[in-house]
Amino acid sequence: MRFPLVGNDRVRGAIDNMLISGKIPHAVLIEGEEGLGKTTLARYLCKAILCEGEERPCENCAGCRLFESGNHPDMESVEPIKDRKTVSVDQVRDIVTSAAIVPQKAAKRVFLIDNAELLTVQAQNALLKILEEPPETVVFVLTCRSRAMLLQTVISRCSVLILASPDEQTAADCICSVSKRDREEILSAYRSSGGSIGLALNILKKKSASAAEDTAKEFISILKGGNQYEMLKLLFPLEKDRVKTAAFYGALEVILVSLIKDSSSATLVRRYERLYNTVQEHKVLLKSNANLSLLLTALSAAAMTER
Ligand SMILES: [Zn+2]
Repeated sequence: MRFPLVGNDRVRGAIDNMLISGKIPHAVLIEGEEGLGKTTLARYLCKAILCEGEERPCENCAGCRLFESGNHPDMESVEPIKDRKTVSVDQVRDIVTSAAIVPQKAAKRVFLIDNAELLTVQAQNALLKILEEPPETVVFVLTCRSRAMLLQTVISRCSVLILASPDEQTAADCICSVSKRDREEILSAYRSSGGSIGLALNILKKKSASAAEDTAKEFISILKGGNQYEMLKLLFPLEKDRVKTAAFYGALEVILVSLIKDSSSATLVRRYERLYNTVQEHKVLLKSNANLSLLLTALSAAAMTER
């Protein structure tokens, strides 16, 4: 499996060293702001520790597969129990008990404490004891947004890895590999994310969802009082973009469902229902690589047909 983060060469080097040398610290703390990938990296490290293959994590061995299914007997994730916002001291006491058990499958038992700042001060103090004298067979992997939110005594017993924002061009390359938006749009989203690829992807997603919604609303307003020329003009920009078109069909479907439910005019309801059926057919066709221009022209014709 590829290292899951872009940039961050130092962190990458440190983790490679741990895995290759087999000298895995008994506690690793990964610090990074929201969206920098600290949870992804923490899970990658946990999986690599549990992996039984050569190049860890190999993705193929029983260890990797059990990890992915959430059933590895030597893996424990610690998080607040339902309806609570913090991890309690009792939960940490359970970890201490559990850490004494010998690993069943892997060489180590791994405890993942994602967002360690959710541990209460008492919980952190309880954890401290086991961090001071950890059993040989236990590794703790912790993440946090900022070390300032943890007790100094806890931090000092961990190997700390600090995630930094990748530079703009590296980040843009990475986002381009998973998003079809153009580079300018991607760079602008990355800038407004404050240097987080995860947040930038969310911004792009929201932007395209709200653009699709706007187009779908405009579509309905033309349907009610416009003409086919206006309709074609509205849909024309979508012809070159399959992703935007799919998002538009999705948004239109949602609007039609609520219009069908809320309209008092039976004639309009029938018209919306017919259009809804067309949208369903087109969604299937979209998946089979249908010609976008033909599809959108057919949609505008269906929309402007009053009976
Ligand atoms: Zn493996």
